[in-house]
Amino acid sequence: MGKHLVLVGGGHAHATVLARAGDFIERGHRVTLVSPSPYHYYSGMGPGLLSGIFRPRQARLHVGKTIEDRGGSFVLGRVVRIGADERLLWLSDGGRLPFDVASFNTGSHVPVAWTGGSLETLVPVKPVLNLVLARMELLKALKREPLRLLVVGGGAAGVEVAGNLWRLVREAGGEAGITLVAGHGLLRGAPPRVRALARRSLVRRGLRILEGVHLKSFQGQRARLTDGSTLDCDLAFVAVGVTPSRLFVNSGLSTGHRGELLVDGALHSPDHPWLFGGGDCIAIQGLRLDKVGVYAVRQSPVLHHNLLAALEGGSFRRFSAGSAPMLILNMGDGTGILWKGGLTWSGGMVLRLKNVIDLRFMRKFQVSGEREEADALPGVSSIEREPATGAEA
Ligand SMILES: Cc1cc2nc3c(=O)[nH]c(=O)nc-3n(C[C@H](O)[C@H](O)[C@H](O)COP(=O)(O)OP(=O)(O)OC[C@H]3O[C@@H](n4cnc5c(N)ncnc54)[C@H](O)[C@@H]3O)c2cc1C
Repeated sequence: MGKHLVLVGGGHAHATVLARAGDFIERGHRVTLVSPSPYHYYSGMGPGLLSGIFRPRQARLHVGKTIEDRGGSFVLGRVVRIGADERLLWLSDGGRLPFDVASFNTGSHVPVAWTGGSLETLVPVKPVLNLVLARMELLKALKREPLRLLVVGGGAAGVEVAGNLWRLVREAGGEAGITLVAGHGLLRGAPPRVRALARRSLVRRGLRILEGVHLKSFQGQRARLTDGSTLDCDLAFVAVGVTPSRLFVNSGLSTGHRGELLVDGALHSPDHPWLFGGGDCIAIQGLRLDKVGVYAVRQSPVLHHNLLAALEGGSFRRFSAGSAPMLILNMGDGTGILWKGGLTWSGGMVLRLKNVIDLRFMRKFQVSGEREEADALPGVSSIEREPATGAEA
């Protein structure tokens, strides 16, 4: 008899399972996707969405339609609690969803409450849709007056957001001072040549970079920094790193040190082997991985195989992290900076390479007519400035 597979979150790690949901349904199983949005925006193209290099329809998967087109069901909402033993999920609207096998791809969010800032000033860089909405706000505001923009966080996301803000301002014909508060330093952990290239690229365009200083707090629109100085800003993009939701801790499951669902090499929970997961929301026993989408994407076919095996009774595949991922920064000026291990490369060709890779990835998973859709943002009203209720609280 068929079983019920529930997919919680339609992020990068579920891309293969969603596109190939027919493999489950043809075998008599039911598949349900629970997600707070029918769309999933691809983070690799997020900075390009901010600057307008990409349009929304190029950078999103219509996950709700993808599952329904293949004979599955879509539930708009969030899972707020997991009853692992009774195999039951509690939903944000109070509903309950029973399952035989569940797979979690609930991602991560950028914490902002600690800053004490007024919410209208803050833009967490995740969910990626925030960058689309911030672009719309900025295009209006830039028509009225010069702006003071702040980017908090000197990692890859902060650098890309700063560079692409510059492009947005320039193409809108507006004026803005852009300051990047880089904490311990720009792209800490990247090779020195990459750091130097990124610094030079931003400084050459007039962006101000503050290194060795962190954001301490906000008071209204005034940022207080750890060196005692203050900065007034109209909008602050927060890219200080991500944290997974409290869903797994709150549900009493075994977790990694940051509250991620603990899984083994087959991507299922050692305590509850009917619970699987992928992407930023998991911690794999004995393996420490950066929270980057590349790993979520690499886990995606393994989840597809292992979820079928869990339903049908087959053997599991083990996830192998593979070689160090190739990272390419979109600097917002038509150039990119690439590094992989000791290799570094920069320039216009690099950005074109990134765009080819990203658009090829999207073409593979945009299986529900996304590219022919309008660029509207259905069901979305404002930037998600606080982690949504329930699971992340
Ligand atoms: C600006 C920016 C640029 C980046 N660029 C790159 C890059 O170029 N390359 C790279 O490798 N990484 C990049 N990253 C990192 C990348 O975003 C993450 O590692 C990646 O998004 C993780 O994918 P995921 O599938 O785990 O989660 P997500 O992409 O976060 O997806 C999780 C999904 O689950 C849903 N969800 C959350 N909670 C619940 C719930 N309780 N119930 C149901 N659904 C839920 C969410 O709405 C979301 O749709 C970038 C990050 C940012 C912020």
